[in-house]
Amino acid sequence: MTDQALMQTYARLPVAFTHGEGAWLYAENGQAYLDALSGIAVCGLGHAHPVVSEAISQQARRLLHTSNLYQIPQQEALARKLTQITGMQSAFFCNSGTEANEAAIKLARLYGHRKGHQVPHIIVMENAFHGRTLASLSATGNPKAQAGFEPLVEGFIRVPYDNLAAVKAAIQNCAQISAILVEPVQGEGGVHIPRQEYLDGLRTLCDQHDLLLMLDEVQTGNGRTGRMFAFQHHTWLPDVLTTAKGLGNGFPIGAVMVQGKAQDLFQAGSHGTTFGGNPLASAVGLAVLDTLERENLPARAQARGELIRSQLSHWLADVDAVRSIRGLGLMIGVELDRPCTELVKQALDAGLLINVTAGQVVRLLPPLIINEAEAIQISQKVALLVRRFVGASVPVELEAQGE
Ligand SMILES: *Cc1c(COP(=O)(O)O)cnc(C)c1O
Repeated sequence: MTDQALMQTYARLPVAFTHGEGAWLYAENGQAYLDALSGIAVCGLGHAHPVVSEAISQQARRLLHTSNLYQIPQQEALARKLTQITGMQSAFFCNSGTEANEAAIKLARLYGHRKGHQVPHIIVMENAFHGRTLASLSATGNPKAQAGFEPLVEGFIRVPYDNLAAVKAAIQNCAQISAILVEPVQGEGGVHIPRQEYLDGLRTLCDQHDLLLMLDEVQTGNGRTGRMFAFQHHTWLPDVLTTAKGLGNGFPIGAVMVQGKAQDLFQAGSHGTTFGGNPLASAVGLAVLDTLERENLPARAQARGELIRSQLSHWLADVDAVRSIRGLGLMIGVELDRPCTELVKQALDAGLLINVTAGQVVRLLPPLIINEAEAIQISQKVALLVRRFVGASVPVELEAQGE
């Protein structure tokens, strides 16, 4: 029962968890749930990871917060770590994904004005998700999320995803474009993986036309796709890179990173935040990145992701209602030919946490630490649920293993 003292912004499932360990969550009634969602790509290290718990408690005993009026060694260390991992030059810390994108959008405005544009424009994509604050919401390509909040922030030009010709046309049609903002894999939009040439082509167009390539890696970052950041499947750097979700494993933190022509856009006083990068948040972020590196978790995400996709293909190959099984690392989508949001509740009842996005895409974002047995269990449970949902016969082996 959801408390009426809460604003009714979420359609919550009827379950509350008391604690977790690794890929498992435990509810008030004692029931165990296998977590194939990680709090929406947040808990990459799973629940109650000892290194994270220890970093939080150690730092909390010493110092939570000072202010960005002062030097913060933990924040400097986290920035060094992130720049070393990504090849970017410097970082700014905030508290969420949408805030990181707000900073990126402000950088694009500064860049446009530096180029002499009165009304700088940013190219954004259909079905994009960039967050819920007004500028990020305006960049988001989901009319349902935007409805009722008009007037939206101006200065965005929208084109179809994974379509270089549309981007070229937009650049031809508008003389005041300063940046392209894009997710390397669209998450909320339905787990859409563009062709390899797409992001390479965007990088080339940005170089040719002096635009900032701004990648939203709020969801794809921190090991999720099989690299620390998804752009590392390619051979170039973005100019602006945003991340959040997995960086704090559940502690709120976001970051925007810059390099090259985006490097010196923010000056003292041009952007700021009270909480961003405080000693506690920074200590957690550092512990998370250290662990991702030390345990080689991006590589594990890649291997486990391949295992889940091949298992899903094995158990669902003959089901016509399954349109596609796709993914990059542990960002996985199973698209059906029909709306399937009921699957979320059916999975819950079967002890599995999943999500459905874009109406008919089952989305799996398991913790990067899952073992092989857990990956297989997730695949078999999902396959069983999907087969039953679309009315396909259930092989006895699957029936036995997927329950
Ligand atoms: C979740 C998400 C955001 C928004 O992050 P919040 O922390 O909820 O503000 C932005 N961009 C992408 C790609 C996301 O997946």
